[in-house]
Amino acid sequence: MTYVIRFSIPALRRLLLAGQVSSSELTKAYIENIRKTEPQVSAFLTVCEERALQDAEKADRRLAMLQAEGKPVPSLLGIPMAVKDNICTKGIATTCASRMLEHFTPPYDATVIQKLSQNGSPLLGKLNMDEFGIGVSTENSAFFSTKNPLDVTLVPGGSSGGSAAAVAAAQAPFALGSDTGGSIRQPAAFCGVVGINPTYGRVSRYGLAAYASSLDQIGPLTKTVAENALILEAIAGQDAKDVTTAQNKPFSYMTELDQGVKGVRIGLIAELLTGYVQESIRANVVSVGKVLEKAGAKLEFVSLPSVEDALAAYTLLSCAELASNLARFDGVRFGRRASHDTLESLYKNSRNEGLGTHVKQRILAGTMILSSDCNAYAKALSVKKAVQSDFAKLFQDYDALLCPVVPRMPFPLGTKLSEQEIYTMDLCTVPASLAGLPALSMPCAWEQGLPCGMQLIGPAFSEGLLYRIGRAFERESGLVKEDA
Ligand code: GLN
Repeated sequence: MTYVIRFSIPALRRLLLAGQVSSSELTKAYIENIRKTEPQVSAFLTVCEERALQDAEKADRRLAMLQAEGKPVPSLLGIPMAVKDNICTKGIATTCASRMLEHFTPPYDATVIQKLSQNGSPLLGKLNMDEFGIGVSTENSAFFSTKNPLDVTLVPGGSSGGSAAAVAAAQAPFALGSDTGGSIRQPAAFCGVVGINPTYGRVSRYGLAAYASSLDQIGPLTKTVAENALILEAIAGQDAKDVTTAQNKPFSYMTELDQGVKGVRIGLIAELLTGYVQESIRANVVSVGKVLEKAGAKLEFVSLPSVEDALAAYTLLSCAELASNLARFDGVRFGRRASHDTLESLYKNSRNEGLGTHVKQRILAGTMILSSDCNAYAKALSVKKAVQSDFAKLFQDYDALLCPVVPRMPFPLGTKLSEQEIYTMDLCTVPASLAGLPALSMPCAWEQGLPCGMQLIGPAFSEGLLYRIGRAFERESGLVKEDA
């Protein structure tokens, strides 16, 4: 049965509906593969085998009942998932890969978990990440580093490194990650999988541990574009528990997926094809343009002048919001409670023991940004507006934009990156984050067995179009075979 773990989600669904495999068998096959591959990959912080099998048995009973009654079967019934460990799962530890929350078990499910559980997806476990989402390699996890399944001497990217690695290693058919300034897109690029940062407001953040609330979004990671569309459809939508979620008419990405790119106008962002980005990555992204042109799209170089300012503004906004969001971890209500003799030492010791170096550094920077009289947060907000208006201008003439995901290829574990290098890793991903725009990351070329990613950015709520372009590229380039 283990061969099924490499199948696409639509193929798994066909097997389930035809009774050729049960959800219990499928879930066991993934658990078996997790056991086999975890010693090398280390993607999971928690594997909840018992819960997964219970969920799967429930899914099998439900499928039998629905089929007997001739009723429609939910899109993911019986298809298991794995979830980044900053998304709350009732009764299952949710640590944010931090000592601070090492023993925290949420009393409720995040909205995305509620939706997927109602849909019928068994929960395999919780995935490693950079502590509280801060980092680019998953080496900032307080517990252990995840390895890139394509070459275990390399990092999987971050902060959703566990999510990307789990999908790449066939430990789960899909995973959820979160993206603040690139944390879904960048690891997707490093592990050769597809990841989307949805439009801000597309997916409920209720139950997502906040890093920078004005930028955070939850999104799926999958092997292919079509699967990604399927999962986003299942988790998207307005939620009374998150007032920033947008009101939308019902939509279906799947219906427009195969409409091709004839006449679609795509702009190649010139500022992200400069010396900051490794030459081979630039060349690969430019070749994507050629492939899309062959499929009928129109390509032109365009300018997004605010790219460098965007990185600075992101740094200010994300540090400031992090400092304010993490103030709640003070040893009083939840999380680590250190030994102490005064209230002040309770705060100090709990935060000192509970938080890692990188998190502390950014909290310090954020506290300074918020308390200084230089008005840095407000200035950063005005840059955010400038980025938004740069994009809006481009979208008057173009349907979507194309650029790299990361300026460099996956690097060896343990590489000492300078602060400058760490920030520059987010260069191509933060503009869309600041503007709240959807951005799809997917592999566009392979170099000596390693993937190179490309990014498609569109106007707010244009995920359907991005998937369409991505799907056309998969087909035209031959990088993805037809559904297994
Ligand atoms: N690397 C970026 C950071 O550390 C992005 C992280 C994220 O998107 N969560 O801020």
